Amino acid sequence: MACEGEATEPDYLDYLNERFGDGDGRGRRPFRIQPVSRRNGRTPSGIVEAACQAAGEDEAWALFDRDQWKDIPQAVEAAARGRVEMALSHPSFDLWLLLHFQAFGGAQSGSGKLVVEKLRQARGADAFREYDRKGDKSVRGARREALKDRESKAVAHARSLVASCAHGACDPGRAETAPAGAAERTVSSQEWAARSGHAVDCQVLRRDPSTDVWRLLVSLGIGS
Ligand SMILES: [Zn+2]
Repeated sequence: MACEGEATEPDYLDYLNERFGDGDGRGRRPFRIQPVSRRNGRTPSGIVEAACQAAGEDEAWALFDRDQWKDIPQAVEAAARGRVEMALSHPSFDLWLLLHFQAFGGAQSGSGKLVVEKLRQARGADAFREYDRKGDKSVRGARREALKDRESKAVAHARSLVASCAHGACDPGRAETAPAGAAERTVSSQEWAARSGHAVDCQVLRRDPSTDVWRLLVSLGIGS
């Protein structure tokens, strides 16, 4: 799983391994996410490429944010070609963290400031009070504790953002959460981006706010 962030996303993926990676012995299978991140200015298409290269025979995922928007259309095309699953967040991955504590709505026009502010103030999120101050965007220790057992809530909130997408015809019930598998045919970038439950003609850059990270959790058997 390739991502841009140096702290938040790799920390979060490590948390998923730590908390859920061994399976639960009751049908939820064990897994191991290998975060691939590089410092400095990864573009979305660079992230997709890194996921392709690192994954080999394994499932490949690319995590990126709307606020790195520059080449998102190219990134979606590359992901469709390489069958790399995408978890795109508008405006940023921080929205996914916030949804563990509360619902959220309203277009953010690419700015993540309000999301961070809400996260710092959210009920139950005391550990995030200093989040993104002095460059601290880590997800460790008390912050992991705060996220615990809120996965189902976060998934429900993220699904409801698909349902309330301004496009009007987006439906989380249509989202694909099973692995894409080998290519049977070529899929268009629009079809690939619709795996999130958004309509085929719902433009990726207009899914504001939204985060597809819930699809990763459900595909791992968490929080469904
Ligand atoms: Zn939509």
